[in-house]
Amino acid sequence: MSVEKEPGFRKSVELLFMRAAEKMDLAPDLVNKIRVCNSTYTVRFGVKLRGRIQTFTGYRSVHSEHAEPVKGGIRYALSVDQNEVEALAALMTYKCALVEVPFGGSKGGLCIDPRAWDEEELERITRRFAFELIKRDLINPSQNVPAPDMGTGEREMAWIADQYHRMNTTDIDARACVTGKPLEAGGIRGRVEATGRGVQYGIREFFRHEADKQIAGLEGGLAGKRVIIQGLGNVGYHAGKFLQEEDDCKIVGVIERDGAIINDNGLDIETLKSHINEHGGVAKYPHGTYVENGISALEHECDILIPAALESVITRENAGRIKARFIVEAANGPITAGGDEILRNNGVVIMPDMFANAGGVTVSYFEWVKNLSHIRFGRMQRRQEEARQEMVIEALEKMTGKSFPDELRGAFVSGADELTLVRSGLDDTMRGAYINMRETWHRLKRDDPSMDLRTAAYMISIERVASSYRTLGL
Ligand code: GLU
Repeated sequence: MSVEKEPGFRKSVELLFMRAAEKMDLAPDLVNKIRVCNSTYTVRFGVKLRGRIQTFTGYRSVHSEHAEPVKGGIRYALSVDQNEVEALAALMTYKCALVEVPFGGSKGGLCIDPRAWDEEELERITRRFAFELIKRDLINPSQNVPAPDMGTGEREMAWIADQYHRMNTTDIDARACVTGKPLEAGGIRGRVEATGRGVQYGIREFFRHEADKQIAGLEGGLAGKRVIIQGLGNVGYHAGKFLQEEDDCKIVGVIERDGAIINDNGLDIETLKSHINEHGGVAKYPHGTYVENGISALEHECDILIPAALESVITRENAGRIKARFIVEAANGPITAGGDEILRNNGVVIMPDMFANAGGVTVSYFEWVKNLSHIRFGRMQRRQEEARQEMVIEALEKMTGKSFPDELRGAFVSGADELTLVRSGLDDTMRGAYINMRETWHRLKRDDPSMDLRTAAYMISIERVASSYRTLGL
């Protein structure tokens, strides 16, 4: 595959998909069936606001129903259109298959600038959009389960859940109709941080493999590694915060809507985030150099580049100037097919979106299971685990005649609560998926030097979707 002209986002996803499919031994008609988006529902609805009827356009796209419910976020942005939603729905299919979350792929979007409306207006718009989707079973605990995405969060999910409940008053599983809800509305601990946390766990796993690090020209551990993040939204903020606070990475650059801030001695994510919240951007942040042309900061010297904002930011135009040798796609589709080709030829290692940002949907899966089981993870076992650990300590002390070290006692005894279990499940998922991905990557690389992690990820996903189609007898 050689990308002559820069394709749009949807075409880009298809090209990257085909690059992998062509390396597999699959019937072309099956490949075609997996590639296409099953359906896209478009709705135009009116809401009376500010004295007039405002018309909004929304979408819910279902890429693949090989597993149900289908899953994927709802995005609020002016960039939303059918092509974008379909590309994102396709990525959801591959993402879920890769991390073994038993869902098909879907995505929704509303073409709106959420900052242009106040909270009350957004609630009315969201409830009306949800109403349109619910009445067509495009929001439903057993068929289609949305979640937050760009421009939406816990608040919108709570409105959607409540709207579903109002329209399905006797459905005992109503809360499982959407994930990413606040705790009081049936959410799960650790969902807000999940995507950023998954990025951290994915990078940690990458750093456990010497051979992989070597390909990216990296040495040693994560401590001191220079990181640039594009976008301090929910994903970028959490990824940056955890990498800085827990892995001692140095965040040398942050790119935001209004420009970038660079500081080779390291930026403090918390302070920068407060500044952004207060002033609406990074300009005038006193602890770094402001660069007005933010996107150019993607080309700044660093060890790990984390695009965590929009799609199509690394393209044929700028890919050749990227200095990072390791790129982690925390956003969906930040690198176009053309950009991907240039980076690959330059030996850059790309941790693909469908893996890197899969933490969100993984913890969404845990939330959905929690809602269906109507009980918090750990509720039955926690105290019993603690009692057993106490017994172990007592036995050790009796046997040795020595007392157990006080500083270890707390951590040794404490039983796992919901947050601990969610993080453990997420870590296990990210580690397992990375190991599968790298195994395919290295195995095929022996005969095909052009093999990369993204192609490996696609191949694993495509094979899983194909085998469920085979089982279905299709
Ligand atoms: N919007 C997120 C994504 O792109 C989360 C989807 C979900 O949790 O269903 O993966």
